[in-house]
Amino acid sequence: MNLISVIVPCYNEEEAIPYFYEEIQKTAQKMEDVDFEFIFVNDGSKDNTVSIVKEYANKDERVKYLSFSRNFGKEAAIYAGLQNCRGDYAVLMDADLQDPPYLLPEMYEAIVDDGYDSVATRRVTRKGEPPIRSLFARLFYKIINKISDADIVDGARDYRLMTRQMVDAILSMSEYNRFSKGIFGWIGFNTKWIEFENVERVAGETKWSFWKLFKYSLEGITAFSIVPLQLASVIGVLLSLIAFIFIIIIVVRTIMFGDPVSGWPSTMCVIILLGGLQLLAIGVLGQYLSKTYLETKKRPIYILKDDNIHEK
Ligand code: UDP
Ligand code: MG
Repeated sequence: MNLISVIVPCYNEEEAIPYFYEEIQKTAQKMEDVDFEFIFVNDGSKDNTVSIVKEYANKDERVKYLSFSRNFGKEAAIYAGLQNCRGDYAVLMDADLQDPPYLLPEMYEAIVDDGYDSVATRRVTRKGEPPIRSLFARLFYKIINKISDADIVDGARDYRLMTRQMVDAILSMSEYNRFSKGIFGWIGFNTKWIEFENVERVAGETKWSFWKLFKYSLEGITAFSIVPLQLASVIGVLLSLIAFIFIIIIVVRTIMFGDPVSGWPSTMCVIILLGGLQLLAIGVLGQYLSKTYLETKKRPIYILKDDNIHEK
């Protein structure tokens, strides 16, 4: 029988986990011809997430857990789950039931019967989300798809079932600055997309503030595009051209009409504009440099404190 590993990143999800466990049980029962393992990755929760998961692990031997020494972020939790799963197939699911488990049979069929390497999901609505957040999200997807090789789909969730081959491809990208949506797109393979209406989380609250999302989007851009680095040269070339034309005009004008002193406000404008552009370009350089800096340190992506997968 094929084994599906369900990987669930959990950060302060004590309220949501019981609902999740119940729902995933129902789905697992429906899929009689597959075995399951459920890997809960506790990402340094400050509530009772660990003890709840351990309770389930005592009752149900398919329940596995990995517990981090602190909060390393969802990307690290995904990586840890994939690294420690044994399944022929692996699926990533949020603990808050925003990734509906009832889609799983349909996803599994598409891989086994239709030969896809992975089945991913995207939500077609952003119901229940603040409008300003939706607006910025849309803008982000427009920009990043223009400037990056990785095909990053608007509304795509991390909820995705994939083959062992694809799991290994993801694990082979061992970068420290992980941006899963980009990694999935970058490695290629045949992906089927299933669309569904946005569901609000069943309990607890979202861990993403607007500011956190904004930083995450910058991470996505630096991880999968070098266009911002090239922008400085493009602007530089353009400004140099303009300056060159200006010089000719001013020289000719001075020769023909003399040189009455005037125009310091316009000079100030030019100086401030150029100063601003230079700082911006240095800032962009700094972004990439800082990522390179962290990457070269080769720090581990996560640190385990406790688990029931490895022999002790
Ligand atoms: N999560 C995590 N570590 C974090 C933040 C979130 O493991 O630092 C998990 C969280 O427990 C949930 C999933 O990632 O299972 C998605 O988080 P959330 O529902 O807060 O995000 P949203 O659905 O609002 O984008
Ligand atoms: Mg959620």
